[in-house]
Amino acid sequence: MKDSVFNCCFLPPLPPGEEAERARRPKNMAAAPNSSSSSSPPPPDRRFLIFFDFDETIVDESSDDVVVQAAPGQKLPNWLKDTYRPGHYNEYMQRVLAYMAEQGVSEGAIRSVIEKIPASPGILALFQYLRGRSQDFEIVLLSDANMYFIEAWLRKVGARQLFGKIFTNPASFDGKGQLRLGPYHSHACPRCPENMCKQVIVREYLARRVAERGRPFQRVFYVGDGANDFCPALALGPRDTAFPRREYPMHTLIAELQGLRPADFPAAVVPWESGEDVVARLKRLAEER
Ligand SMILES: [Mg+2]
Ligand SMILES: [Zn+2]
Repeated sequence: MKDSVFNCCFLPPLPPGEEAERARRPKNMAAAPNSSSSSSPPPPDRRFLIFFDFDETIVDESSDDVVVQAAPGQKLPNWLKDTYRPGHYNEYMQRVLAYMAEQGVSEGAIRSVIEKIPASPGILALFQYLRGRSQDFEIVLLSDANMYFIEAWLRKVGARQLFGKIFTNPASFDGKGQLRLGPYHSHACPRCPENMCKQVIVREYLARRVAERGRPFQRVFYVGDGANDFCPALALGPRDTAFPRREYPMHTLIAELQGLRPADFPAAVVPWESGEDVVARLKRLAEER
């Protein structure tokens, strides 16, 4: 569903300053990106920066679809599904989670279905590789799912510590047992659903880290699958690599752009079916100095 709200078009990226400025413009409700606590010290200086999407990249399904398995009858009523409006996915998921709480679905039931989502092929091997090269890779997760699902799943597989930063929608259980989901930010990118433009997050994160380090990363990598992973991949430069899941929307969109205007996509492209495909390329690049 998230991909269907994506208004695709190949517009040139907005100048980063303009994007960042607009992204900071407050929405009528306080945006609460609950990832970037400014109090934590900056991560150590590493050569590479790698971004990961979550749904259908790290895990092999979409967590927002999977959570419905905890609902009565493992499905949502049609009246609820009919409230979905294109471009307003976050609000829709807020209603889904409110419905589940009304139906008495417990935190344990939700956590349990999320923890059981299978990892995508080879992803745990990729995590293992990155764990062994922690002196080289700064690792960041960017997702339009939510903090509760992501942390529950990562903790279950023992991979939470791998990620220095997680940018996603804030979510936590309130005193009444309802998982409360919030919006991420507002932005002016015409390509992306209204709740999140991952390119804005990538550009801002990169600018901040390069300023803190006093030097750029040798290379930046992006591992994803969805239409909303295409926009951030446009921010990659000629030394960087996009890893789109083979024949998923991110891959299709990159291939279309490369066919039309190859100069508009300067990064290398390595489609993956298994995380091992990503490991193979990273190994090769990490051997260079
Ligand atoms: Mg995805
Ligand atoms: Zn965008």
